Amino acid sequence: MKQIQPYIPGKPIDDLVRELGLRPEQVVKLASNENPLGMPESAKQAIEHELKGLGRYPDPGGYALKQVIAKRLDVPAGWITLGNGSNDILELVGMALLEPGYSAVYSQYAFVVYRLATQARGAEHIVVPAKDFGHDLNAMFEAIADNTRVVFIANPNNPTGTFLTSRDVTTFLERVHAAHGNRVTVVLDEAYNEYLPDDIRIDSVALVKRFENLVVSRSFSKAYGLAGLRVGFGLAQPALTDLMARVRQPFNVNSLAQAAAIAAFQDDAFLARSAEVNAAGKKQLQEAFDRLGLTYVPSYANFVLVHVGDANAVNQALLKRGVIVRPVGADGLPEWLRISIGLPEENAILIRAMTEVLGKEA
Ligand code: PMP
Repeated sequence: MKQIQPYIPGKPIDDLVRELGLRPEQVVKLASNENPLGMPESAKQAIEHELKGLGRYPDPGGYALKQVIAKRLDVPAGWITLGNGSNDILELVGMALLEPGYSAVYSQYAFVVYRLATQARGAEHIVVPAKDFGHDLNAMFEAIADNTRVVFIANPNNPTGTFLTSRDVTTFLERVHAAHGNRVTVVLDEAYNEYLPDDIRIDSVALVKRFENLVVSRSFSKAYGLAGLRVGFGLAQPALTDLMARVRQPFNVNSLAQAAAIAAFQDDAFLARSAEVNAAGKKQLQEAFDRLGLTYVPSYANFVLVHVGDANAVNQALLKRGVIVRPVGADGLPEWLRISIGLPEENAILIRAMTEVLGKEA
């Protein structure tokens, strides 16, 4: 049987629509944890305004964006590092701190860029088995070796959607700092932070103020809806921020991204709507998976990891029905699919397709 090309980020959806002989509205992409609302109108306007300045270089220091972040989060602007996506922040940490002979610690089912940032520096990987699909912080603490310079933690985690409480993270930071001082930097990657309910969200700004060996990273790609522009930021005390500044390219965040991020970061209505749509969509998907008798990992992010058995076959069958999701075999989860939460109608198309493919009532 003809295999449909797995979805490749950047591949025009139009190609897939043609290949499948479907109508564009029948094709839904729930594969890359993007915001189904698209980008905020406020950011679009900021971009239009910025277009006239594109003959010039962007502000290398991102002054205006840093001011907005500093004011809203109550951190000194000098503690902020802007990145070309938060991937860039993860990479800058790797560049600043890792080299052959050193090691980085991260969890088994963690975000792929931890591996890439470590590999790029020729450093050693210390991969710690997951616990209940999430980070096993006790085991991660024990795994820190004499040559460890960086520990990566994703909270919520991708691709599993698990969450570590404020107490878990604080205790871990206390233990790492007590045992290793500033020799070991902890990266707390909060790309999905804005989707968390207020009552469990960690006060990571307070943690940055307390721990000199902590970098918190945040993304504009998810709840802020700016994935295509590539912008994120890191928060850390001056010593670590200065180290990252030494390896950062001066124009790593382009003018349109800076302008859009300034608008999006202050667009509280859009952010609230993103969180609402996500919460409703998560309920819709998780309830459907319950009806279908599928096991899933309860998610704190904007996607759900669901167990489907033969994930490649299910993925192919979903693709034929115009539904693009993410197989996570390469992440060590060959029987699971990671499904990003879409708009209600997109989720409904996915649920219908899964019901057909898995041959059960939903
Ligand atoms: N961290 C995690 C845990 C992620 O899932 C992602 C996006 N997939 C990122 C960081 C990077 O996001 P971006 O570079 O788009 O900010």
